[in-house]
Amino acid sequence: MWKDWGIAQKAACYFVVVYVTISSLWVLGSDYIFSKNVNYLPVWMSTGKGLLFIIISSFLFYNLLQKMIRDIVKAERYYRLIVENVSDLILVIDRSGKIEYISPSLQVIIGYLPEDYIGKYLDEILSEEEITKLQGSNIQNAHLVPITFSIKNNNGRNVLLEGKAVFLPGRQDTDRFIVLVQDITERNKAENKLLESEERYRKLVEYSPETTLIHINRKVVYANRAGLELVGAQHMEQVIGRDVLDFIYHTDLNQAVNRMIKVQEGVSEINEYRILRLDGSIIYVEILAFQTTYEGEEAVQVIIRDISKRKKAEEQVQFLAYYDSLTGIANRNLLYEHLREAVVRNESKGLTFAVLFLDLDRFKVINDTYGHSFGDLLLQQVSKRLMNTLGEEGEIFRYGGDEFIIVLNTNEADKVSQTAEKIICTLASPFVIKDRQMFISTSIGISVFPKDGENVEALIQNSDIAMYNAKENGKNTYQYYNSSLNLTHQRRMELENGLRNAIQNHELSLHYQPQVNLDSNQVIGLEALIRWNHPEYGLISPTEFIPLAEETGLIFSIGKWVLKTACSQCKQWIEMGLPIENVAVNVSPLQFREKSFVTSVHKIIEETGIPPRYLELEITESVTSNVDLALTIMREIKALGVHLAIDDFGTGYSSLNYLRHFPIDKLKIDKSFIDEINQHKDGEVIVQTIIELGNRLRFQVIAEGVENKEQVTFLRENKCYLAQGYYYSRPLPAEKIKDLLMMVE
Ligand code: C2E
Ligand code: MG
Ligand code: MG
Repeated sequence: MWKDWGIAQKAACYFVVVYVTISSLWVLGSDYIFSKNVNYLPVWMSTGKGLLFIIISSFLFYNLLQKMIRDIVKAERYYRLIVENVSDLILVIDRSGKIEYISPSLQVIIGYLPEDYIGKYLDEILSEEEITKLQGSNIQNAHLVPITFSIKNNNGRNVLLEGKAVFLPGRQDTDRFIVLVQDITERNKAENKLLESEERYRKLVEYSPETTLIHINRKVVYANRAGLELVGAQHMEQVIGRDVLDFIYHTDLNQAVNRMIKVQEGVSEINEYRILRLDGSIIYVEILAFQTTYEGEEAVQVIIRDISKRKKAEEQVQFLAYYDSLTGIANRNLLYEHLREAVVRNESKGLTFAVLFLDLDRFKVINDTYGHSFGDLLLQQVSKRLMNTLGEEGEIFRYGGDEFIIVLNTNEADKVSQTAEKIICTLASPFVIKDRQMFISTSIGISVFPKDGENVEALIQNSDIAMYNAKENGKNTYQYYNSSLNLTHQRRMELENGLRNAIQNHELSLHYQPQVNLDSNQVIGLEALIRWNHPEYGLISPTEFIPLAEETGLIFSIGKWVLKTACSQCKQWIEMGLPIENVAVNVSPLQFREKSFVTSVHKIIEETGIPPRYLELEITESVTSNVDLALTIMREIKALGVHLAIDDFGTGYSSLNYLRHFPIDKLKIDKSFIDEINQHKDGEVIVQTIIELGNRLRFQVIAEGVENKEQVTFLRENKCYLAQGYYYSRPLPAEKIKDLLMMVE
């Protein structure tokens, strides 16, 4: 308090002290004199000087006192002016809680006049809860205490007041509390609003499925739950404080560092990275980073989205687009890209490369016989073998169905031929699929860049042409492309197109070859053999166009046509009374396995009116490879009353064990064995064995391709009594057969 006083106040104070001291001394001094009985007045008092001193000092004292009072009044006015005009609320409360003073701002803050509150006790205007709170703030023991309390205004609304309470200790009942508070209701509301929105934002970020991470100078200072999960952390400590780059996959580090510089420059864009998780696994993410502040410091906020699933799907799409889902090897799309690159690369360097076109032989038959899932397994195994054999020597692609293309980075004929031979050889050993042994071979056509084609299309097309030639050359072999093959290919294309309209154009006809009983020398049957009279190429052999018909699916309509024509022809001959016992019709394995085959045979029998026992169907051994299916179909055919013969017997892989169970009537010994008679002992032995086997199993045995008397003699000697061949007759048109049979009669 002393230090707050002005100079005048201090001087006045000194004066009063001096004056009082001197006056006291004077009084004490006079007492002393009286008691000692000496001069009863001090010397200086008895003089006029002393009197003057008292008068002057009293005057000064009066003036000073006047000034002091004026100062005090002035100060009091100032303070009152301040107190009554401040927006804060000022209360003076006595020890009992009675309000002695309250500033006029009360009216603005609470809506009441100060007079309404002065003289009231705190517990009359505050709630019990607020009173307890104030009591708890321990005002008496501290000089200055921050306080907060709420009070109801004249509208009944709570007004929140915050400030401090000053304790002014006095004697006994004169303790006072001065309370200075501000209305913080609005501020509090705003603060609460801010807190709420902050909390909302915090929760939003915390529980967001998207990862949010904040780093300051690369050190992670915040990561939400999704962030922990993303990197595979269990606790915050595993992430906080770490360098963000620790989580970036090493090949993406440069990109990440460059991006960080950009972010500092204020550029924010989405980038893809791979993140290295704590367990060492890698995930793909999309990252958006931007500048922010975190606890007052400049920071970078990073939003991370896990795009692994999308990446996986993209990879899957990529895989499907470029790889074959069955075999896992590259597909046609990748082949074209690879070849395009190879053409450009080799062209500029003046280098060459070879394209090998592989087509599996007889795959269609296997697929149709054992079903597509079986065929798929075979393709998978074939692909595996091809890849193992090829190794680093070249690239392999699945071109389609049973077609593969190999690109070799060499044109050295030796090396290319070696690879082709190696492939043929590797496929030669049997495959085991579903416990079944399977043999397959491949035909390979080869074209060389740039000699056989300067672009992708030409290279593929010419290797394809060469492959067809390899097939025509007996399959299981390879063939280099040369321009003369184009003619063959062209012919093939023309035949394929021509065959489509051959039936409608009446270009197809049937020739019949007699089957003779060697005992009686009588014609007992006729084999119907198809002929195609091509408008340009003339007569075309069925050995050329039947495989084409099988490949194109035309075999079904052609087969029906043959069956119908042969049956109605036979019916005519029967009606004419010609002595034939049967007409044999060749059936392709594809036809045989077609679901509606038996029904269509039945229908044709009914339509043509041929007695079923006159009809004999010639099937090949290959149909018996699927024993169950073959048995079912054979039984259905037999149930119609139709006969069954196995054509070209001895050339296929039929199981002798099953043979006895098949409802077969006839075995036709293949011409290749008959050719051996009188030529090779081994061949003769085979013929003898087949005859013996057939006789024992009670099948009829017929020899086909009999061309000379010696063969007939040999057959007779070995108890084969049926034969067919040029020795007796070539296949003849129906009219000629009629004449022949009439002659026999
Ligand atoms: P395949 O069923 O074994 O018919 C016998 C083939 O041998 C016929 O040839 C016939 O002309 C020929 N041939 C008969 N005797 C002799 C002979 O003494 N010496 C010689 N060198 N050959 C003889 P083709 O007519 O050219 O038929 C070839 C093959 O075409 C047939 O062999 C058969 O597998 C198939 N084929 C013919 N017609 C049809 C048909 O209508 N449908 C089906 N799916 N295939 C048919
Ligand atoms: Mg035949
Ligand atoms: Mg034959």
